[in-house]
This record gives sequence, C-alpha cells and structure tokens, in this order.
Amino acid sequence: MDIGNTWKDCLDFIERKIGRSTYDLWFKPIKLLELKDNAAILSVPNRFFREWIEDNYPRLISDAFEWVMKDNINVQFKVDHEPAAPASDSVKKDALTQARKAKLANLAGKGIFLNPKYIFETFVVGPSNQFVHAAALAVSESLGKTYNPLFIYGDVGLGKTHIITAIGNKVADMLPNANVIYVSSEQFTNEVVSAIRHEKMSDLKEKYRTVDILLLDDVQFIANKTQTQVEFFHTFNALYEKQKQIVISSDRPPKELSDITDRLKSRFTMGLIADIQPPSVELKMAILQKKAEAHKINMPEDMVYFLATKIKSNIRELEGCLIKLAAHSNLTGRPINVSLAKEVLKDIFTDETKPVTTDNIQKVVCDYFGVKLPELKSKKRTKEIAMPRQTAMYITKKLTDMSLGDIGKAFGGKDHATVIYACKQIEAKMEKDEAFNKTVEYLINKIKP
Ligand code: ADP
Ligand code: MG
Repeated sequence: MDIGNTWKDCLDFIERKIGRSTYDLWFKPIKLLELKDNAAILSVPNRFFREWIEDNYPRLISDAFEWVMKDNINVQFKVDHEPAAPASDSVKKDALTQARKAKLANLAGKGIFLNPKYIFETFVVGPSNQFVHAAALAVSESLGKTYNPLFIYGDVGLGKTHIITAIGNKVADMLPNANVIYVSSEQFTNEVVSAIRHEKMSDLKEKYRTVDILLLDDVQFIANKTQTQVEFFHTFNALYEKQKQIVISSDRPPKELSDITDRLKSRFTMGLIADIQPPSVELKMAILQKKAEAHKINMPEDMVYFLATKIKSNIRELEGCLIKLAAHSNLTGRPINVSLAKEVLKDIFTDETKPVTTDNIQKVVCDYFGVKLPELKSKKRTKEIAMPRQTAMYITKKLTDMSLGDIGKAFGGKDHATVIYACKQIEAKMEKDEAFNKTVEYLINKIKP
C-alpha cells in the first residue's frame, strides 16, 4: 500500500468536508509518518495544530481514514517542534493532564463523555450570560429541586454546550456516584432509531430513565423526528416524576420550536428558561485574554481589542481566530499584530459584508456536480442537470432575499413556479436522503460568508 496516496485521499476527503481555507491552514501541513496495524502517526507542525484539531474536528481524520481504507484507524499526533516550556509549568500542566485523563477514563468507563475543558472555571461571565451562569450553578448544586427543567437557549457559538457540560462536570466531581448523561439531540435520535431497529427499546429506556441528571444538547434537532420526540417525552416524564434533573439547550426559545409537539414544548417551559445573549466587547476581550492564557499565547492588548471588535458575536469564532493567529505566527516567526491578522483572517473580515450572489452559488454548485454553467441555465431536463439546477435554486432561495421570479430569471429565464417546484423537490430529497442533506449543507457552508 502506498501511504502517500492513502493520505492524499484522506486530505481530499477532509478538504471536501470543511472547505478550502480551513483545510489549507490546518490540514494541508500535516504529514502521514506511519501507517500500520490500524494505527496512523501524523506529524503536525506544532501543538496548536494538535489542540485545535482535537477540539474542533476530533473525528474528522479518523473518518477520512475510514472512508478511504474502509477500516477503523487509530490516529496519533506527533508534534514536530515542541517548544520547551518552563520546567515548573510543564510539570504542573502534566500533572493536571494526568489527573484529567484519569478522571476522563473513569467517566468514560461509566459511559459518560463530558468535555473536560467545559467547566465553570473556564466560563467567563458577563452581563450577557450572567443569568444562565447563575441558573446553571444553582442547578448543579441542588439537582432536580430548584429549576427543573433548566432550558437554555441562545445563538450558535455563545456557550450553550460549554455551560451545560459544566453542570455535568461539576455534578460528576461532587457526586462521583451520580449518573450523569450528556447527549446531543442527534445522538439521542440515532440511539432511538437504532433501538427500534434492533428491538432494544428497553435498554434505551433503562439507560435514560435511570439518570440523575440528563443534559440534552441542541434540542431543536429533534424537530420532525416523531419517534424521538415520543421517547423523549416519556423519558422527560419519568425523570421529572423522580425529581431527577433535566437540562436542555436549544438555539431558540421553546415557543419558536416548530415541528416539536406542543406537549413536549409545554414540558420545556415548566422550569426555568434562561437565554444567553451576544457578548459585549468587554466580555469578548475577557474571553480572549483567558483563552490566550490557557493556550500560552502572547496577545498584545491592542490585538485583543482589535479582535473583540472585529468578530461580531460568535465566541467559537473568536477562539478560532486567536488560535489561527498564534499558529501562523508560530509557523512564520512573525509577531501577532494587526497586519498579520488582516492577512490571516481576511476571509472572516471581508466576507462579513460580501453578499451572496447567484453567480457564486451557480459556480460552486456547477463545480461540485461537474456541470457546465450554460447547461445549468439551459432547458435540459435530464436528471444530471435538473438536480444540480434545482439544488442551486433552492440554495439561492435560502441564502438570498431574491424573489422567486428573479431567481427564475437568473437561471436562464425560468418562471417562478419552476423555482417553487425546484425547492419542493430538493426539500423532499433532503428529507429522505441523509447523504444528500449533507451535500446541501456542505454547499451552503461553502457559499455562505
Ligand atoms: P454553543 O453550544 O452555544 O454553540 P459552545 O458552548 O460550543 O457554543 O461555545 C463555543 C466556544 O466558545 C467553546 O469553545 C466555548 O468554550 C467558548 N465559550 C463560549 N462562551 C464562553 C464563555 N463565557 N467563556 C469562555 N469560553 C466560552
Ligand atoms: Mg453547542
């Protein structure tokens, strides 16, 4: 087997999944050193790479190997140049890591998977998240008694997963025998589907109805999933009756969760509803300082302000920019300053104002499906052309404010009924074809600023 080619295929897979710019910065520099006995050793330029990849795409590389080799591969990183940290620091950090690892192993043994970095101590509090923070602390200190359920909502990247995981970590710390479960709604859905298929429903009930605290992340994803909702409804009732704690996160308030049954929505409002607002500049600065410290990055004060004002609200993006800058500066030896930031982060800065155009949508869709632009705009109705055309129309409808008539015009003079039909076709296909759903998601991510 040629490991060079294998790795190239993996990299292609990764690029397709995450897009060019992230790929170029984080994955392109990685080399495959060794591949044997189902283990791959990869060399990364420095520790930022490893940390960043582990935090942001923990499964991506192994997924790539699985796709290319049709086999499970255990991925390990080797850091090229590990800068020598001051001895006392590294000893301290090592001890901490060891302790964490032991704790994690212990939790994992019990089937609990909580990100150890998401704890109250690393959550920076400001006016926009103070209420959620206080509620979360109160809940972790008196399970099932104060606010049940605790329903937390807020936009993407504002700290929902962090804060609900912090509750779980704190409970697991204080009550080592407590049964804590954190589960994303997608995972919960998968478990329900799999339990039905394998006739293991009683195992699933046993697992979820015997917890002391259930943390359900991103509940909006169970919209439209009828059986999952039924199962969650009964789980909810069983836990609630036993005064077991339930914590739910969502990207919107309960009443805006369309396609979730009313009886479930009304359950969500029985306890406390707390929202996380977008952070102020001051909070963004405090978070940046804390993250810089945690990653041992030397960030000049003016840069902290610069980033905090440039990045609108998403805290995940804030952190991503910080790490990107540090990695770049580390690789090139250039200091972290405004000019480096403008260069390295130009996608993020300029794209904020760049509108989505039909030209771009058509180009991306044509590239992806291997269709020529004149064909996309033609009247041809063969499946190979019609499907990409409908996909592009659907995406245009979704990402722009254009009227149906204008969309039709931009696709070679079709009428508005054709656009409506296209959107319906695509929605139906997405509904029943998970892979296609992912494709559309991928295309949208590629097009969206
Ligand atoms: P969400 O689940 O709302 O999309 P996350 O909880 O995943 O957001 O948060 C995104 C990133 O921002 C995480 O790395 C998280 O640690 C960080 N983050 C969010 N809020 C805070 C905060 N108040 N203090 C420190 N880090 C935060
Ligand atoms: Mg989240």
